[in-house]
Amino acid sequence: MTLSKQMEQVLAPIYKQRVPVIFLKGVNILVSLLPPVFTGRLLDNLNAYDGDQAFFYIGIIAAVLAIYFLLNWAQDYFWYRMEYTGTGLIRSFLFASAIRKDYVSLQKYSVGDMENRIVHDAGVYAHAKISMTPMLVLNIVHILVILGLLFSRDVPMTLATIAFAAVFFLVYKFINKHIRKAALKETEGYSEVLTYASETIAGVDTVQLYGEEEYFAHRFEHTVDKYEHFLIKLRKWKGLALAANNKIMGLLPLAAVFVGLYLYRADIIIVGIGSIVSFYLLLPSLADPIKSLTEFNIDAQNAKAVEGRLVALLAEETVHDSHLEFIDKIHSLEFSNICYKYEDGTEVLWDVNFEVKPGDALAVTGPSGAGKTTFLRMLKRQLHPSWGQILINGKNYQHVDDKSYIERIAVLTQNVFIFDDTITANIKFGKDISDEEVQKIAELCALGHLDLNDWATKLSGGERQRLGLARALACKYDVLILDEPTTELDLDTENKIIETLKAVQQENRCIFIVITHSENVLKNLCNKSLIMTKPK
Ligand code: ADP
Repeated sequence: MTLSKQMEQVLAPIYKQRVPVIFLKGVNILVSLLPPVFTGRLLDNLNAYDGDQAFFYIGIIAAVLAIYFLLNWAQDYFWYRMEYTGTGLIRSFLFASAIRKDYVSLQKYSVGDMENRIVHDAGVYAHAKISMTPMLVLNIVHILVILGLLFSRDVPMTLATIAFAAVFFLVYKFINKHIRKAALKETEGYSEVLTYASETIAGVDTVQLYGEEEYFAHRFEHTVDKYEHFLIKLRKWKGLALAANNKIMGLLPLAAVFVGLYLYRADIIIVGIGSIVSFYLLLPSLADPIKSLTEFNIDAQNAKAVEGRLVALLAEETVHDSHLEFIDKIHSLEFSNICYKYEDGTEVLWDVNFEVKPGDALAVTGPSGAGKTTFLRMLKRQLHPSWGQILINGKNYQHVDDKSYIERIAVLTQNVFIFDDTITANIKFGKDISDEEVQKIAELCALGHLDLNDWATKLSGGERQRLGLARALACKYDVLILDEPTTELDLDTENKIIETLKAVQQENRCIFIVITHSENVLKNLCNKSLIMTKPK
């Protein structure tokens, strides 16, 4: 499905609201044209009216202006309310897609670039998607109505106006191409600024410890300079478009009056005061729809520029094949002659073999760089073997549904991800479990001394690690994967965690896979081992 079709589905609830809002905008446009027309009539017939009639006419014009003011405000409010809701829907949709991407695709994006696509690019795209068609139609109708009114007043003067307006469109065709190119560069530059800011702030502790604030400030300044350059370039083209609009709009009444005067001198027409005033009041009101089209054209070029970036974000979403076999329990897990080679040719795993069943605890050891993390990613199905077979319950893993497998494993990662919320929320991690259960698990993981309603971001390294374990234990799992579960713990706490894990395994008969360097864990928890070596 194309991006456009996908977005139309996401925006379906918004599209329903568009009709009344477009109607309101249309009425607003018609009302805006009444004062110039009425004023022209008033001046045409000034001699025929007595004083009271003229004042009555002026009163009507003032009342129409008041209605116009209210309508203008109402259409603006409802229009933007609709657009902001739609933008929110698109951002949420893109965010949900982004966090479903597979591991390899995610590696292509920096944090800032991803943020930029979800927040900025989505906003630009949503604006164009929601408003493009109605804005085009409304503004073109607006222009046609004004031209109709002008024609009814004076044909040659109107034709002169149209001829000048044609120049405007030629200028635009040329400018558009440059706006699109500059907009893409600008948004890529913005991604880089976000990435540099977020990664440096995330690592500010280390930056300060190394006393390298100046280096990182300089690095950021360089990125901002580059971004500034792109912004200025984009503004140059946008400014040209807007200036062309203003100047050509300024020339329109002049062109009309020039032609009017010429015809008047040649005795071809007699231009009345009502016509001249109507032209002077109506021509500037052409400025509104033309300016709106100009600005909208710039937005549409921006949207075209970011479209490819959004397509890329959606294209790589992990697809779950519904034809695969669902599993409700993992009875065995086997690696048979597994090898892995990264895209750049780095060979990491070489002929890995093992089988584990419920009750087993497999220790995975090996020097740094031997491939333990790669092996873990393969267990989590983030990477797929280049050679060999993974068997789940004796079946080739490619025939087993991803989601049902992932739901049966729990993982304690080395760097525990803590989000900005309470310890309880961080342990639950979206799961529907009671606070009492969380309290019980926290005690098992030596976190009983903490107030679980406290914010988790203030926990120490060891406490974070135990929170990670509590989070894993709170899942329903058949395989528990522990990546260096005790590195941050003192011997006493390590012993307590080992006891907890042994009790958990006795109760649940699950499979443990433990990456560890700890002799204590190796001896007292594991019954099998797999030694990783670097390929020669
Ligand atoms: P360990 O966890 O045992 O320290 P890893 O699995 O992290 O080892 O890494 C094993 C080897 O694979 C290392 O040489 C590392 O540089 C390389 N490696 C890791 N990730 C990638 C990648 N995305 N692309 C290429 N090589 C990688």
